Amino acid sequence: MRPSEQRWRIVVIDDSPDDRAEIRRLLLRGSARQYDLVEASTGAAGIRAIREAAGGPPDCVILDYHLPDADAPEVLAELAGPDGNGVCPVVVATGSNGEATGRAVLSAGAQDFIGKSWMTAESLTRAVENAVTRWAMVQALRAGDARLRAALDTAQQAVRSRDELVSLVSHDLRNPLNALVAGISLLEDEALGDEGRGVLRRMARQAQRMDEMIHELVDVAQLRAGVPLALTLADTDLVQLTRALIEEHQDGAPAHRIEVRTAPLSLVGSWDGRRLHRVVNNLLSNAIKYSPGGGRVQIELEDATEGATTWALLRITDEGMGISTDDQARVFQWFSRGVNARRTTIQGTGIGLAGVRDIVEQHGGSVSVHSEEGKGSTFTVRLPTRPPPPSAPHRAG
Ligand code: ADP
Repeated sequence: MRPSEQRWRIVVIDDSPDDRAEIRRLLLRGSARQYDLVEASTGAAGIRAIREAAGGPPDCVILDYHLPDADAPEVLAELAGPDGNGVCPVVVATGSNGEATGRAVLSAGAQDFIGKSWMTAESLTRAVENAVTRWAMVQALRAGDARLRAALDTAQQAVRSRDELVSLVSHDLRNPLNALVAGISLLEDEALGDEGRGVLRRMARQAQRMDEMIHELVDVAQLRAGVPLALTLADTDLVQLTRALIEEHQDGAPAHRIEVRTAPLSLVGSWDGRRLHRVVNNLLSNAIKYSPGGGRVQIELEDATEGATTWALLRITDEGMGISTDDQARVFQWFSRGVNARRTTIQGTGIGLAGVRDIVEQHGGSVSVHSEEGKGSTFTVRLPTRPPPPSAPHRAG
């Protein structure tokens, strides 16, 4: 059905029978459209007619400005209801041509206004048509806005649930793990053969890895809540720590050649050893994991003095799949995985690099990436050997 063929239900609210008759006459003359008109002579009767109309709110209301029981803004306010949205389009017929009156009724929720003294069949019909169109557009925008808000709420709720889950899971994992570790150390005292001792060693190593993962999860929950980590600073040798990690990783990565180039024999700083271990471990694991074809993983360690500060530099380079330029800024965000990772079956959670960044920054350092797709990546960590005292509040990202 074409719009001009639809019947529109119009409520005319005007206390003057002559004016109502005139509006009816002009409307019927003004367009080919058919109208079902309902008339009311007071604001209260008009509101009742609108609310109780069979088939829902009318297509449009033509409202006289001055009514015996209320002015148009009062009727509009009543119609707007508590949410201020109204129920149907309204055209206010004003006694004068005053722009000020027009603006007042528009801001009270009318879609259009028309001066009675210059009302013609054409101008009245156009005002009604415009009001109906404008109303439809506002409704469409409101629906879109509500959908957007609902989607946003859902997303925020999902983020909250994920953080709560991380915190819950990490605490719940601790108890059974502690029992396992206690069991292992009890068995170490027993007389076991070589094979038994080997099994026990492997179990202890896995338990230790799990313990570290739980520590990582606890830190993630804390950092995500915007609370800085309480670093436990002690003299830590980055060279020794890195060499131990390479030994651990080389066994499980026979296709990779992990090489270390280190200028100083030791590189001691006042760092949180457990967290620094995690930093190097995550970067080294990633270098191996994201170069599934094998190849060289090169680790460079240097120290540099600038003014009163001595810096430790750690550079880990792989020959793997690399990271797209777009992803390079994103991979340091929590739970963010690059396209390269998502289009493979390589497992991950997207918490490693975000944790690396936070730990390094809390030590007063920085981490950056240089990468080319298909060629490989280099992650560089710069750490002052003496971290500055804790300062700025932490940003959760
Ligand atoms: P994940 O658990 O996904 O490995 P990370 O936070 O450690 O999480 O890394 C985030 C993302 O950065 C990875 O999903 C991957 O897309 C990318 N990435 C990290 N390290 C490398 C690397 N050495 N080579 C290529 N991509 C990497």
